[in-house]
Parts: sequence; structure tokens; C-alpha cells
Amino acid sequence: MVTAQPVIVYTDAGLYCPLADVYIDPWRRVSTAIITHAHSDHARPGMGRYIAHRHSAPLLRHRLGKNIRIHVVDYGEPFDIRGVRFSLHPAGHILGSAQIRVETDNDVWVVSGDYKRHPDPLAAPFEVVPCSTFITECTFGQPVYSWQSPDEVLNTIVRWAQRNAAQGVSSVVLAYSLGKAQRLFLELVQRGLTVFVHPTIEAVHTVIRNHILDLPASPDFPTETSSAFDNNRATVVIAPSSALRNGDLAPFAPFHTADVSGWMALRESRQRRGASQGFALSDHVDWHGILQTIKDTGCSRVYAMHGDTRVLVRYLRERGYEADGMVTPRRTEADHDDIAESMSDTSSSVSAAEINHVSNADGGSITP
Ligand SMILES: [Zn+2]
Ligand SMILES: [Zn+2]
Repeated sequence: MVTAQPVIVYTDAGLYCPLADVYIDPWRRVSTAIITHAHSDHARPGMGRYIAHRHSAPLLRHRLGKNIRIHVVDYGEPFDIRGVRFSLHPAGHILGSAQIRVETDNDVWVVSGDYKRHPDPLAAPFEVVPCSTFITECTFGQPVYSWQSPDEVLNTIVRWAQRNAAQGVSSVVLAYSLGKAQRLFLELVQRGLTVFVHPTIEAVHTVIRNHILDLPASPDFPTETSSAFDNNRATVVIAPSSALRNGDLAPFAPFHTADVSGWMALRESRQRRGASQGFALSDHVDWHGILQTIKDTGCSRVYAMHGDTRVLVRYLRERGYEADGMVTPRRTEADHDDIAESMSDTSSSVSAAEINHVSNADGGSITP
């Protein structure tokens, strides 16, 4: 049932729940921010308090500072703020990523955050959460985006690396340091490749190993002064794109580079990014994934955000949905790794005492 009073509204600080006075993934400083996941276009510095999934917490501290205040919750563990019931549910996007379910007396809304339906070795599988209103990401919300199966893409990457190795050339795969890098690392190690990871990515792996779960070790990353590096293997290096500019990859020369991103589905994007090769492996849903998910939630109203929402909004309206776009600050998937946000102050005032934990079967709790 859809009520007159919106459960979540769009403000210049981001998605806002007026009844609870909390924001979801805000882009200005607020007192309480529920965070869908640790990518920098969703988790920004300067919030009075963060509420996030248990696995997001160490990643948020790594990126935003050790001293931020975080209330940690598990998937499916409800908590109340001013009588509004919230819970986090797997989004399948990266480690710890969550959809946010928001329940009032007579309505349920869900904010998807970024999500995907394909399997990921680290992200808990996407959970369909029934709701009246679904706020969906729309990063790849156009029919031109239709993903190949991830297995096919990964096997293509392996064959590319093997061809390079046969010519004595290393293979450098450019990927975001959080999310895509770990997904590729685990998938390629599992396929028998020797996989080096750039120190920026190794730092993320260390956080994951220390606080969340074990990851296979990778060989020491060579420097120009370290002993001669043997290129005569199917060697893959996973690195952020900045590594191309600052010479960190010199020990692996000669090498070919590949960009691994949903944007690589389009030839123009491949050319613009300048990598010698592009593989379309995304941590976001494609057009069909968005439509299927909307249908699965059983919602009657959709708000779309991130990317160009016009095609999706029109498509949904023609099929009887109430649909609209929400304008977000311009983002691309590529921004995930290196956005510097200028922050400005907005006031908001939920005190710690107003967050009431609701006990569940596991008996876990948030400590205000
Ligand atoms: Zn993301
Ligand atoms: Zn995002």
C-alpha cells in the first residue's frame, strides 16, 4: 500500500527519511547516515554517525578514518529510529553491500544502493525484498547494457592473459581497488593464474584479512629494484588505473592492459579509456536485471537514481508503474575509486538514544 506521506524524500544532502530524521548515503555532512556500501560515492567523510553492515565497517574505517563512529548491523537485523523500522539486506554488489529496507506503520520502501544479481565470490547474494516503493540504481539502466555471463567474460580474460604470456607479455587488469579487484583476484586465482595485486589493492586485502575473512596470499609486488621478474608465465597484475600513470607497473614490462568494467560494453567507452583491451564485467545490474528486480519486489512505484534514468522511467510509466528519476550529482562507475567530495554542513539531529535496537532471533545488538 502506498501512503500519501513519502517515507523517503530526495534532498540536496541525499535520500532522507523525515520520520526518522536520517539520511541514506548522504553527500553532505549529516548527523546520522545509513550507508549502503563503502564505495566513495556512497560513503563520504564527516558524518556524525554511520550505520552500516558489519563487513562494511572495517572498509569504511580504512577509507574514512579509524575514528569514525559506526553502528554495526547484520543483514536482516532490524533497528528502530523514532518508530521507523530499518534493516539491511544483501545487495550482491561488493563485500558488505546492502539494500536498506524502511518500514513505517503502513508502508515499506527499499533503497537498493548499487546491486547486481550475478554471483560474486565475496558479496552475499542479492535478496529480493518486497516493498511498495523501490528506489533503484540506474547506472546501466538502458537496453544497450546487457551483460554476458560473468563466467564467459572471466574465461575470455584468462585466454587473453595466456595469449600474452605466450608472447612473453604480462597482463595488467585495471579495476577498482574495492570490490572489482577482489572479485577478479579470487576468480582468476581459482582459474589457475598467478595474480599480483598492486599495493593499493593489497592494503584493502589486508583490511579484509584482518577483520572480515581470509583471502589467498598473492606474490610480493616487485619494484624496479627488486630481483628480475619472470614474465614467462600467465601472469596477471590487478591494479587501479592510477598505477598506469605513476610507473608502478614498470617491473612487469612488457605488458598489455585491460579495463574491466560495465562501461566496456560500449566501444566508445573502450576507446576513451585508452586501455588496449576492455572486458565488460560489472558489479551493477544491467537493463534486464533492473526490470526483473523491480518485478520481483512487487512494487508499484519506482524511483531511479544514478545514471540516465529517462529511458527506464518512461518504460515503467508505459507499463503502469508510478515512476520518476532522482537527480544525483554526476557519477560514473569509474568514479568509485577516486572522488574527492567537497562537504558542506547541513544540520540534522538524531541522538544516539533515538536508535533503538530491535532484538531478533540471533539476539545481536547495536550499541549506541
Ligand atoms: Zn558501488
Ligand atoms: Zn555507486
